[in-house]
Amino acid sequence: MKKIAIFPGSFDPFTKGHEDIVKRGLTLFDEIIVAIGHNTKKDNRYFNINLIIRKIEECFVRYENISVITYDELTASLAKKYKAKYLLRGLRNTTDFEYENSISQINKHLNLELESVFLITSPEYAYISSSIIREVHNYGGDISDYLPYSTKDL
Ligand code: ADP
Repeated sequence: MKKIAIFPGSFDPFTKGHEDIVKRGLTLFDEIIVAIGHNTKKDNRYFNINLIIRKIEECFVRYENISVITYDELTASLAKKYKAKYLLRGLRNTTDFEYENSISQINKHLNLELESVFLITSPEYAYISSSIIREVHNYGGDISDYLPYSTKDL
């Protein structure tokens, strides 16, 4: 049976750290669905969601087994819908661990078949976070080193 993983996140924006987790995830899974959590009723994102979807698709244009979707429901339910038995997540530090630990327990409780799989960040991307990138961009700084696509139209 095909091993399908969901890589859920806000991806506001999708970074080189995220791209690295997806590419490394392909050594474990047959198919990866990048799932952007998005509350359709209140759009409180910094970067335009459609633009980010396009940028992620550009990154993986050569990979037939990577797709991008948005969702507005429990990640555990989304996984059932897509017959995905795995949630892929990245870990940078102990703060990530604390958060991921409780989230994965809840997800397991909501969907017993779901296993969360964690990849430790590659050291060169360990300092990259979407929130810091938003901060730099907001004050007019250059964010091109942190994102795996052209940032001219962001
Ligand atoms: P969320 O809002 O769910 O935390 P993010 O978009 O911030 O979503 O991140 C999605 C996943 O990617 C999380 O598991 C997060 O820990 C991981 N991640 C974020 N940045 C990096 C990075 N630089 N290296 C490795 N993993 C990362």
